[in-house]
Parts: sequence; structure tokens; C-alpha cells
Amino acid sequence: MTCPHCATPIPAAARFCPGCGAIQSSVSQMPTEVAAAGGATSPMHGSSPIGRLTTSAASAAAAFTPGQVLAARYRVIGLLGRGGMGEVYRADDLTLGQPVALKFLPRALAETPGLVDRFRAEVRLARQVSHPNVCRVYDIGEIDGQTFLTMEFVDGEDLGTLLRRIGHLPRVKADEVARQLCAGLAAAHDRSVLHRDLKPSNVMIDGDGRVRITDFGLAIRSDRPTAGEFAGTPAYMAPEQFAGGPLTERSDLYALGLILYEVYTGRRPFDAATLGEWRSRHTESQPTRPGQHGEPVDEATERAILRCLEKDPSQRPASALQLAASLPGGDPVAAALAAGETPSPEMVAASGGEGALSPRAAWLLLAGAALALAGLLMVSRHSTDLGLSVPPRSAAALRERAREILGRYGLDRGAIDDADWFERDYDPMAFVAKRIPSTQWRPAFARWGAPIVYVYRQSPELLWLQNWDGRVSQYEPPPIIPGMAMLTLTGRGELRGLTWNPPGYDSTGAAASGSVDWAGLFHEAGLDLSRFHPVDPRWVPPAAYDSRAEWVGPAPWAPEYELRVSAAAYRGTPCFFGVYGPWTKPLTSHSSGITPTIWMLFNGIFALVTLLMCLGGYLAYRNARLGRGDRRGALRIAGAGLVLQLFSFATHTHYFPAFTPMMWNIINHGVGPGLAIAVFVFSVYLALEPYLRRRMPELLIGWARLIEGRFADARVGREVLIGSLGGLLACLAGHVTSAVTTWVPTLGETAVPPDYDVVYGGVRTLSTLSAGLLVGLEIGLTLFGVLFLLRLLLRNSAAALAGLVLVASVFSLGGENTRVELPAALLTGLACGVCVARGGLLALISLMFVYITLSRVPLPLSSAAPYASASIALIVIVCAMITYAFGRSLGGRSPFGRGFAAELD
Ligand code: ADP
Ligand code: MG
Repeated sequence: MTCPHCATPIPAAARFCPGCGAIQSSVSQMPTEVAAAGGATSPMHGSSPIGRLTTSAASAAAAFTPGQVLAARYRVIGLLGRGGMGEVYRADDLTLGQPVALKFLPRALAETPGLVDRFRAEVRLARQVSHPNVCRVYDIGEIDGQTFLTMEFVDGEDLGTLLRRIGHLPRVKADEVARQLCAGLAAAHDRSVLHRDLKPSNVMIDGDGRVRITDFGLAIRSDRPTAGEFAGTPAYMAPEQFAGGPLTERSDLYALGLILYEVYTGRRPFDAATLGEWRSRHTESQPTRPGQHGEPVDEATERAILRCLEKDPSQRPASALQLAASLPGGDPVAAALAAGETPSPEMVAASGGEGALSPRAAWLLLAGAALALAGLLMVSRHSTDLGLSVPPRSAAALRERAREILGRYGLDRGAIDDADWFERDYDPMAFVAKRIPSTQWRPAFARWGAPIVYVYRQSPELLWLQNWDGRVSQYEPPPIIPGMAMLTLTGRGELRGLTWNPPGYDSTGAAASGSVDWAGLFHEAGLDLSRFHPVDPRWVPPAAYDSRAEWVGPAPWAPEYELRVSAAAYRGTPCFFGVYGPWTKPLTSHSSGITPTIWMLFNGIFALVTLLMCLGGYLAYRNARLGRGDRRGALRIAGAGLVLQLFSFATHTHYFPAFTPMMWNIINHGVGPGLAIAVFVFSVYLALEPYLRRRMPELLIGWARLIEGRFADARVGREVLIGSLGGLLACLAGHVTSAVTTWVPTLGETAVPPDYDVVYGGVRTLSTLSAGLLVGLEIGLTLFGVLFLLRLLLRNSAAALAGLVLVASVFSLGGENTRVELPAALLTGLACGVCVARGGLLALISLMFVYITLSRVPLPLSSAAPYASASIALIVIVCAMITYAFGRSLGGRSPFGRGFAAELD
């Protein structure tokens, strides 16, 4: 072999020409013996007939000869290589006494318009990137009208040549090269630089085997996309690069995937001869699996490479860091922690490998969730409020009935606004539960009617709201306007209460008074006036009246108890009707039980929270200044909080039939609280998240990926799946303990109340979903914060986890019957602990979401229950989420794949 520059014979092992110093590898850049010697593999390894598209072939002869001194500073040693656009020489910097590499724009090309600008851009962009795996570019200069750049001299050969020489790299070496390529590329991307021309010949391997990414000749800034420009090397261009579409980091990852394919296998996945062929290969052909070429390739590596080669950019790894993390031994978080730095959210998201579940584990989790759900549905007849008796009638039927009764007595005159909802009818249940042994109270109560009441309000004014909820309630707005009416029905439709405010001014005189048809109202209540006898009135009507009466008689459904029916009328119009039992507790001035002392206590807590928030605000500011806070993540969660609040407002609020109060309502009850939540979440997240990220990054991986928007990620799926199972089990535990009371005497009772929005149905059902998400997020994050504090205090992660289990248990105690609830609460706490340990924050939040949502779904399901369709819809939505999580948790593997079969053997 002879040197092409000075014709000196070169010994076979030499890397440099002994005559002119040119690196021998440069020879191979031209179609010479080395390529030809490839024999059978030459179509794959021989230089592509197409070079870079931006130029025509440069002149063959070297422009400078060895020994020549340029710009009175650089002595040329020899030609190192030639690419599509430049000639690279080795030279000595005589001023600093160091070797450098000089890259020239060949004379033939110097005239081409735009090329000099490109050359300048190359220096401008490359200089921003400083990383051990990126070739350092120093400066730009000019000699005799010829522009050149100076850069670090890499004493080695380029990867293309290396691969041609030795085929593929050995596994350990390949892993190392892959990692370094990712690190170098990540550094460029971190500076918003897209390389656009990654290929083996633009990657140098120095004498120590270290990787240097070179040649930023086609690089652009990722934040200033140049749409429509067609540039790159066809063999290494991503589909979107052919389409002239917008390029992203993922376009470079496509090229990197091709390089890795060659590094591990020594072959290219595609082969073509013309531009058109390359285009069709890259946009249409599916690459064969790297492992199919005879060389064994690690499964994770193989999948990582194939993911880089996805046609759809969104299917590729999101970043070079993420790719690095999915390669063997790549964990940027460990590296950052070892260096005493706080890992960035991107690093956390990229760490932990792919995080997929084995099909066996995924199936087990899914089966566990299905079993828990089945158990929940089965036990609900014995555990819930609604399982106590007949299902309630639908809201629509009850509304019609309420309007009909009001209309019959003329109480709806002038009404322009109305609202209705369901409530828990707690007092009778508590009364029965105290008097009847727990093993008998369910059948005993079955005769009492649905344990829920329906409330209907009507008003001749709009039902303006002053509260924080955006809902009309019995007291909101206060029922004081003349003409306002409120009516309560049992779930079965029997009248239980009626109030109507007589007019505030009445000039009709005494003439209008008359007798009232009380028997009719008794009938509406499902009672028989003839079985009642009059008594002295005790219940005081809330509105003005001129006649009043009260009766007592046996309750038809439980004759051992006495009912007291109280009524009043104003000038012959009923303005008050109430059915009371020994269970009814009158409203007293201290019904709420909150004394001034307790209010003081609340004030103290509020002051403390305010103080903590000031501290949080300071921490948030400090973190933001130090660049530690995850502003993007905080914004996303704050945005999610706002959206969820708005959604839940929109699905449950009272809709006014007028514009102004609706706007007022939206601002006060939707946007206002939504923004308050957003600001609060944003600052708390900025303040605290960096500490969590530093101390327990391993628990934040799935969460960090979700925040990046990677819903389809395997780790995200896995954590959601684990958390969902935990939530289902916690929910089942609550129901089972509640049911056990009806089987075991002497425990006292509890029953699980439904969510009344779902019982109501329609869009209100959906408010449960967003509220469940919001509350799940809140409680999940709070518990996680508790875990962090415990870790700081106890300095022991196992003890902190045990502490978390305790705190979560206390959190989930209902307070209705502590003795009975305790085991379920402990189980819920335990589920939280296991989910955090086996998943992380995202699993904990998923647990809370599933737990809260499913605990609220009205059960039992029966075809007679009007809420059944809403309940089924919620269950289906949660199941769909779990199934999706199951699918994603496999990381693209088939659930019935060989892994599964093998593991079953
Ligand atoms: P082009 O923009 O024309 O593709 P490159 O920057 O890729 O130019 O350089 C062409 C060849 O020169 C490379 O393939 C490599 O062999 C060699 N080369 C480039 N930069 C260096 C360097 N810093 N040190 C040693 N050799 C280099
Ligand atoms: Mg090049």
C-alpha cells in the first residue's frame, strides 16, 4: 500500500504515513484497496456512491503539502481525511506547541454561495458544546481567501474506518462507545444543537478508545428550525429528514440508532444505491433485528436500537439520555449523585432503564386487580348504604314528582331557577344501627326506604352562590327570599319535607285564608292521616304562617317507632311540612359543634400553614434562582390542577339561565379556586421537588416520565398498574370490613356511602373522576412529602416507610366506627407502603386515584338501579386505564410472548 499523498510505501500496521504523516485511515475514505478488500461485505461497507448532498465532489488533490506553515502559526503535517465539505489536515500549532487539526473548505467550493456561512455556523455551533465526547472546535481563520477552522486533533481513526477494518466491536467495547456517543450527543442537544449528519465517518475514536463526535458542518439550532431544507447523508437520514419535515433531537437519534446497529453487528440495517432507494428504505422498510446477523446482541440493547429506528419520531427515545439509560449499565442519576449534584428531572426520567414488567408479573397484577374488582362488586350488597334497601328512583323521576307536588299547591308561582341533588339520609341509619344487632340491621333497614334523600329547590330569583363549591345546597343561597321553595323526598319518592316562603308583602287581607288539604300531603308522604292523632306542635316552622298543626302516629315501615308530622300554612297555602322520627336531630345553635375555642385552634393552624407557605415561597425562589427547581414540571402539574378543577367545576356546578351570574360563578368557583390551586401547587412543587429528586430519585422515575408526557412508557404503565391494584385492594378492604359487621355481631356497623354526583348521573358523574384525580394527586403528593420528612428525621428508609404506612392508615380512617375501620385502614396504609417501595410516587398517586374513585362508585349494581349505567361507566374508565397500563408495562413485548411461555415452564 502506498500513501496517496506522497506515494511513500506504508507498512501494514502503521497508522501514519512515514513520509507525510497522513493518517492511514484517510486512505480508506476514498475507494481504495481497503474498501475493496472487504470482499463479500463491500456493498455494505464500501463508500456509498453518494456523498453529502450539499456539495459535489471536492478536488482530489490535497491543497497543502507537509511542512508548509500556514498563517505563520500552523505547520502542516499531512492530510487526515476528506469529507463531503472539507479537507482536514493534521498540523502543529507553533505558538502553543500543540497538535491541532485544520479543516479547510476546498478551494473549489469556497466560491459556492452560502458555504462559507455554513462553515462559520459550524464553528459557532460546535464551539458551544463542551464535552469529552465531542471534538473541541477552537476558532476560524483565513489564508489566501481560504476559510479554515482549527480544532482538537484526535489521534485515532474514524468509526467508519474502524468498523470496516474489524467488522463489529466486541460487546463491552460497543457498550462503551454507545454510552459515550449518547453522552456527547446529549451535550450537543442540551445546547440546542442538532447535528443532522451523524454517521460513522463523523465519529472519531482516539488512541484510548474514547469517542469524539465531529463535523458540525450541517448542524442547526433546534430552536430555530429550518423547514424544508434537505441536508444530510442519505444512508443515515431519518424519514422526516427526507420529507424536509421539522427535525428534532429524535432525528439525530435515528442516525445514532443506525450507527449503533453497525457498532453492534458490523452491518447496516438497510442498503441502497440511489437517493430514491435510500428514501424508500428509511421511510418504508422495517429493519431486521440486530441479533439476527449472527452476533448475539443483548435484548435491551436490541430494543433500544430498534426504537431509535422507528419511522415515527414520537416512538423513538425522547432523548439521548433516555437512550443511554436503556442501554446496559447506563444510569445518569447514579453518576450525578456520585458527583454530588442534584440530578435533573430529565436524568431522573431517563434513569432506571426501561422499567418494563415481565409478562408474568404484569399478568399477576392484572389478575389481582380483576379479582379485587370482582370481590368488590360481590361484597357491595353487604357493605354499602345503597345495598341496605331498594334502589332509589332516578333524579329525573324524582324531579318530576317534586315539581308536580309544588305545582299542585301553587308553590311554584314565578319560579325562574331550580336545583336538585341527592344527600345521605344519615340519621335513620345511625338510629337503626344503634338499636338493632349488626347481624340483623341490613334486613331490618330494608323496609325503611332508600337511605338517601332527594332535595329540590326552586326560586323566583336566580340561586346566587356565595360558597366555595359552586353548588346549591339547603343553606346556600339562604332560603329567605319570598317564593323560594324546598322539597325533600326519600329515594323512593315519599315526601319528607317541604318549606315555602310566603310573600314579603301581602295586601289581600284575611279574606284569602282557607282550610288546607293536609290529608293530600300525608298521602304524598306515604302516610295515612286517619292513623295519626293531633298533638301540641313542637317543631317550629322556619317561615311565616298563620295556622299550624302536628300529629303523631306509627311509622308504617316500623310501627314500633312513632312518627311526628308537623305542618303549617299561610292563608291556606302550605308553607311547612315535615316528617320526623325519634332519629331526627333538631338543628340547634351549636349543631356544627365548633366552639370559639375550636375556631381559635383553626386560626392557629391557619397561621402555621401561612408561615410554612412563606417558607415554601422562599424555597421556591431559591430553587428557581439556583436553577434547581423543575419549572416545566411545576407548570405542567399546576396546569393539570387548574384543568381538573375547571373540569370538576363545569361538571357539578349550578348552571344559571343568565349570563352575568354564570360569569360570576365561573370566576368565583371555577377559575378562582383553579388558579389558587395552580399557584399553590406550582410554588410547593418548585419548593420541595428538588429535595425529593436529590434524596429519592429512584421513587420519582415513573412520575418524571409522566410529567414529560410519556404516557405510553413501560415504567409509567408499571407504576400505574401496581398502584391500581393497591387502590383496588384498599377499596376492597374497606368494603369487606364494612360487610363483616353484618356477619359478626357486637362490632357495630358502618356502611360505605356512595358519591351522590354519580347517583345523580349525567355529566355530574364525570366530576367524580376529576375530583378523584385531584384529590388523589393531593393526597399522593402529601404522603410522599411525609415520607421524605420521615426519611430526613429517621435517617433510615425502612423506618420511614413504616412511618408512611402508619400515617397513611390514619389518613384513611373514616371516623364512623374506628374499631371496625382500623384493619381496613391499616391495609390501605400497607398498600401505600408497598406501592411506594415497588413503584414510586406515581404508583402512590395511582393508588389514591383508584381508591378514591372506586370507593365512591355507587354499588351494588342491579338493573333496577338508575345509577347503574353511571357506575358502570366509571368502572369501565378505571378498567380501561388499568388495561392500558398493563399493555404499556410490557414495554412493547407481547403479553403472550415467548417470555411468558418460558417462564411458565
Ligand atoms: P466533512 O465536513 O467534509 O465531512 P469532517 O469534519 O467529517 O469533514 O472531516 C473529514 C474527515 O477528517 C473525518 O472523517 C476524519 O477522518 C477526519 N477528521 C475530522 N476531524 C478530525 C480531527 N479533529 N482529528 C483528526 N481527524 C479528523
Ligand atoms: Mg464528515
